[in-house]
Amino acid sequence: MFTNSQTLFDKARQFIPGGVNSPVRAFKSVGGTPIFMQSAKGAYMYDVDGNRYIDYINSWGPMVLGHAYEPVVKAIQEYATYSTSFGAPTELEIKVAELIVSMVPNIEMVRMVNSGTEACMSALRLARGYTGRNKFIKFEGCYHGHADSFLVSAGSGVATLGIQTVPGVTASVADDTLTAPYNNLLAVEQLVADNKDQIAAIIIEPVAGNMGCILPQPGFLEGLRKICDENGIVFILDEVMTGFRLAKGGAQELLNIKADLVTFGKIIGGGMPVGAFAGKKEIMEHIAPAGKVYQAGTLSGNPIAMIAGYTMLKTLNDHPQIYTQLEEKTNQLVTGLKEALGAAGVVHRINQMSSMMSVHFTEYPITDFSSASSANNELFKRFFHAMLERGVYLPPSAFETWFVSNAITTEDIEATISAAKASMVAIQQ
Ligand code: PMP
Repeated sequence: MFTNSQTLFDKARQFIPGGVNSPVRAFKSVGGTPIFMQSAKGAYMYDVDGNRYIDYINSWGPMVLGHAYEPVVKAIQEYATYSTSFGAPTELEIKVAELIVSMVPNIEMVRMVNSGTEACMSALRLARGYTGRNKFIKFEGCYHGHADSFLVSAGSGVATLGIQTVPGVTASVADDTLTAPYNNLLAVEQLVADNKDQIAAIIIEPVAGNMGCILPQPGFLEGLRKICDENGIVFILDEVMTGFRLAKGGAQELLNIKADLVTFGKIIGGGMPVGAFAGKKEIMEHIAPAGKVYQAGTLSGNPIAMIAGYTMLKTLNDHPQIYTQLEEKTNQLVTGLKEALGAAGVVHRINQMSSMMSVHFTEYPITDFSSASSANNELFKRFFHAMLERGVYLPPSAFETWFVSNAITTEDIEATISAAKASMVAIQQ
């Protein structure tokens, strides 16, 4: 069933460390052969063995409208004929920035980068440059890319691989990273009191997506906002996953929370390699060349990435009903999965916000990294493989979020629920 993938994986490991260019793809925690993809369209991905999958990863978020969305593909084809890179400013960059500013609350300026990692790394540097302070607070199990400062108690692949301390991240860098459990305001208050006037920023995923999907408890984000206001700390919302997905204006809009800086990623490139960070002029104009906080990129604002992103964001902007549809579809999936797992007598928790969700096999609420870690991840592995064999492509780790695209149909969701029922029967035999 996966013969060609197996052959390619064997070859890939000769030339690429671990056979993949980003660790979670290697199926390390679930075992088995990573599936090599050939093409994708709408809600489906097709692998090199001719298998079709209903996709619940959607390139880890950006395919909000499904794969190979026609207008995006056409725009890329047209713009590629003008040149794939100028290394000089274009009008298109202004159009994208203007569109983003019009869609997202509390921001006036945007700087484009090439990945979510760069966005978070640069936003942190800006917060440090702006405040003149070194330390910052992040939350256990949150992932903000692989810049050194963030690889402390990180989620996503770092959690999946169970890496406690990342070799290569020096102690002097890691010492400036303070960590608190997600949803624990008291721990943050304590850190701020213990490090008075030394904390530049608090950075958080407003809905955490890198330890499964974890929702902020009522008052948590508001409490962080208040702590930042009272202590001159820059509040950074990492909306790499949530931006333009939970709502047009991301978590800021959906949860009515105000950030000082926001980071974005993959979504604003419509699947092309892009990231961005944004905020009010007062902070953003500290970035070079307006200010002295240096940040740069040869391919930043790349025309192909910009036109892909512009085309997708404009669609989302002009058709806000997409967000209602995404939520309804995800609700249908969650209801069906709860029934299927409940009928099979499997204890489980499903966390969901809009089109982000995750399934944890436990009876306890999943509210932070430690509760996520205590779920039955052995059962998740078997569930993952049973679903894969039935044509459903889930994230290959319980520490990741499922993303629903608007290309998915009611029939696809029903097929997924049937696959879950059949998977449970197969697992329990
Ligand atoms: N922040 C968050 C919340 C993310 O989920 C990710 C990646 N999944 C990143 C930052 C890093 O983005 P990238 O992989 O594009 O560097």
